[in-house]
Amino acid sequence: MSLRLYNTLSGRLEEFRPLERNQVRMYTCGPTVYDYAHIGNYRTFVFQDILRRVFKYRGFEVRHVMNVTDVDDRTIRNARAAGLELRDYTAKYIEAFHVDRQLLCLETPEVIARATDHIDDMAALIQTLIDKGYAYRAEGSVYYRVEKFKEYGKLSKIDFSGIRPGARVDSDNYDKADARDFVLWKAAKEGEPFWNTPLGPGRPGWHIECSVMSMKYLGPTFDIHSGGSDLVFPHHENEIAQSEAATGKPFVHTWLHSEHLIVNGEKMSKSLGNFFTLRDLIAKGFKPTAIRYLLASVPFRRPLNFTFDGIHQAQQSLDRLRNFRFRLTMEKFPPGETNELQKAAVKARQTFEEALDDNLNTAEALGAVFSLVREANTAMDRGEFHDGDRPVFLDLLERWDRIFAVLDDNDYARLRQFGFVQELEAALSHSSARPQADGPAAGTGDGHRASLMAESLPEKEIQRRISERETARRRGDFARADLIRKELLEAGVILEDTKSGVRWKRK
Ligand code: AMP
Ligand code: ZN
Repeated sequence: MSLRLYNTLSGRLEEFRPLERNQVRMYTCGPTVYDYAHIGNYRTFVFQDILRRVFKYRGFEVRHVMNVTDVDDRTIRNARAAGLELRDYTAKYIEAFHVDRQLLCLETPEVIARATDHIDDMAALIQTLIDKGYAYRAEGSVYYRVEKFKEYGKLSKIDFSGIRPGARVDSDNYDKADARDFVLWKAAKEGEPFWNTPLGPGRPGWHIECSVMSMKYLGPTFDIHSGGSDLVFPHHENEIAQSEAATGKPFVHTWLHSEHLIVNGEKMSKSLGNFFTLRDLIAKGFKPTAIRYLLASVPFRRPLNFTFDGIHQAQQSLDRLRNFRFRLTMEKFPPGETNELQKAAVKARQTFEEALDDNLNTAEALGAVFSLVREANTAMDRGEFHDGDRPVFLDLLERWDRIFAVLDDNDYARLRQFGFVQELEAALSHSSARPQADGPAAGTGDGHRASLMAESLPEKEIQRRISERETARRRGDFARADLIRKELLEAGVILEDTKSGVRWKRK
């Protein structure tokens, strides 16, 4: 089976084939750095990360360009309110984005392009559009002549035939009711940053930024362009109009749009005030891997309803998988192989891969592995899992984690690396003092405190202490063995001695 993706432009599920050789050239609209990104934004970024991981899993080479919008109406408005120069203001949020990206295990795109580093390229593309009659000047600004681009509306499928020629819109974002000639270059205004270019002093409109940065690094025609579904109109529709008018070539082959993260039926957004940043959730004691898991768990074309209970369940699912991997690596099993289990593992791999091939059906890809884990755990409990079954199961988990990237229990170490120790401490003292009304549904109180503390003990260290305890027991040094068990318990790790060996879980 081959990879099939739903293309917004054609309105169909299509078999994916790169335009050139084996290389996927993709562009994703990155964050607008006017504030911290919220986890709705990260739903889209996690989907795009899974997309690039699936391409790589399928043997494609990926060239991924992501932009950072560091000049637009919103960044200018907020920098001004903060009394800072635009670049000084956005620097803080660019840095925060890179930290969040690493906490959420988002792979680093091959190119990250800042809009303000490409102003001359933007002026040049706008000049081309003027030369070709697709753009005109008015009062120091430059506008795109929508009427001239006959295919305007082909992405959003909106009928713009009634549009009034010559009427103009200046804001970066607007609804279809306001669709008119949109701004490419905005004349310098009192109190706003501007650049001196052959077009005159001013600054770029938002849409031209992405046309310029995508084509600069990927060429006039490339494979994939993606963003959240709110970007279909006007942003991506305008990008097509700008790029195709300038080059005379098709701009993008496959357009992929993710549905929103929603809260109580509404899109999570800054303007509605119904948002959480990654930092907000960390301060409430949630782990980045659990958040990544939650965001990845629903296929990208379905809306994802955000609840605290959802993150809590994600954490529990992750614990199940991690414990299973631990059993696989640590327990002693009788020699030999179990035909049926091996067959089930091969089947699960097939289901997992087919699910991803089917427009990245992550829910099914997760499900395939969970049913297998249930079956294998039961077999282990009954002594029916054999030593020779290990490799095929470990291989499946490794493949699974190439896409989901959540199995390593290293949140605490990464949070410390990025200086989140204070937030962690605060979460710890909160959760031991009182359950938070709006905090995790369960997992508050001492149990939660212990589970966060347990992360100060990395998995490797826990495994080392367990084998130390085993050695002590074999020597007959039960006092030492009990001490190790007690210490682990204090760090939030529970040991269970079973027929087939020691199991552990975090409290
Ligand atoms: P922005 O920083 O506003 O430019 O948005 C960055 C990305 O996040 C874009 O692809 C948006 O479409 C996407 N986005 C914004 N809000 C949400 C949401 N609630 N759920 C999913 N994606 C979103
Ligand atoms: Zn964009």
